Amino acid sequence: MTLKNLSLSQLMSLGTSSDYDPHAMSVKKAKTWIRSFLNVVTTKENIPIQDALHRILAQPIIASMHVPNYDNSAMDGYAVHTDRLKNEGPFTLKITGKVFAGNVLQGNTKEAVHIMTGAYIPEGLNAVIPQEYVEVHNKKITFNQKPHPLQNVRLRGEDIQIGQTILQKGRLIQPCDLGLLASLGIETIEVYQKIKVAFFSTGDEIVTLGNTLKVGQVFDSNRYSLIGLLRRLHVEIHDFGVIPDDKASIEHTLKKASALADVIITTGGVSVGEADYIKEILKKIGEILFWKISMKPGRPLAYGKIGACHYFGLPGNPVSTMVTFYQFVREALLILSGQEPIPAIPLIKAQLLEPIKKAPGRTEFQRGIFLQDATGQFKVKALKDQGSGILRSMSEANCFIVLEESQGPLEKDVYVDIQLFDSFF
Ligand code: AMP
Ligand code: MG
Repeated sequence: MTLKNLSLSQLMSLGTSSDYDPHAMSVKKAKTWIRSFLNVVTTKENIPIQDALHRILAQPIIASMHVPNYDNSAMDGYAVHTDRLKNEGPFTLKITGKVFAGNVLQGNTKEAVHIMTGAYIPEGLNAVIPQEYVEVHNKKITFNQKPHPLQNVRLRGEDIQIGQTILQKGRLIQPCDLGLLASLGIETIEVYQKIKVAFFSTGDEIVTLGNTLKVGQVFDSNRYSLIGLLRRLHVEIHDFGVIPDDKASIEHTLKKASALADVIITTGGVSVGEADYIKEILKKIGEILFWKISMKPGRPLAYGKIGACHYFGLPGNPVSTMVTFYQFVREALLILSGQEPIPAIPLIKAQLLEPIKKAPGRTEFQRGIFLQDATGQFKVKALKDQGSGILRSMSEANCFIVLEESQGPLEKDVYVDIQLFDSFF
């Protein structure tokens, strides 16, 4: 029996025990939907470049000068003019001057000038012979090899040309960019203000660190995973703690958070059994835009808005929280932050070391261990514990094995797509 042969009512009667849910939205469609509701948070500010690491540029940077802005020596050596040398060596030239970086040599430069790295190439000279290649006697140098014109000369504008766009709007500022900006004499830049992300955990059984656990309670781990994930994205974080499954408290906290933040993330309380609270409150104070995603782990996901504030309700199971964050929230936060282009999470092909169980119907993100075998081939195996509550296996894994909705079971040796965690998790 294949899913295609089933009628809609038969499919629905399979209920939540099945991997196929006709009302669920595909991962791709959900992403497209979310994207359509996102606009860059446009508030901008001017900041000194030394504070700009990992901020997002709000205007392109155009060079107002050449870098370097004068021809200079790439080596410590002797500046000469190639036209004044015969074709064959050895050559002997008089040392007619000496120039350090930061100085300009005036006067007679006709023969050879002792020059330091970064020093202005004296007028009338066009090449530098490294000092290792010359012998010095009685204020004269001797060398055998004729240099090419412009050899060891760094030309004006060879790094950056005046008028050139060196950084695009939307760029996430990297360490090298700070140096690049400084090389152009730029002291301050315009960046987007950091987006403000508020978050809280929900659940009567969830306990904040520092308390003693009673039977039936668990420590709040999601908030800490989220803190880690959000710090990686360099957003401004606002921690609202743990809120019990209580309508009034949830409503109050959502209102408070939406007054302050651009985005609210909650974990827990969006699965079928208990969805009503958050759904009901969101309907009352804002809007809820969709509810179920055909993915595993992480099926229940709420996206909505409270005024201008975006809302993501992530499932409470600790692995589901991380997977839904990685697949949906990360991209949304980057878009809102003004970053462009959004770096895609690359998919790599790796060969299965062991078969994988999978039923068609949902996109699965299985936790896997990726390795390169002795011949350099990419291999991967799924971890045994794929339960959405098993955070340990998230920590043991180094990749997701991404299995498309329609995919069934997989044999050993077939190639699958993987997303490496790299430094994200
Ligand atoms: P829920 O999505 O609220 O139905 O929660 C699903 C499962 O995840 C339950 O076993 C919860 O106890 C657990 N859970 C929910 N929130 C958290 C949290 N913040 N930290 C650790 N476990 C949680
Ligand atoms: Mg709960």
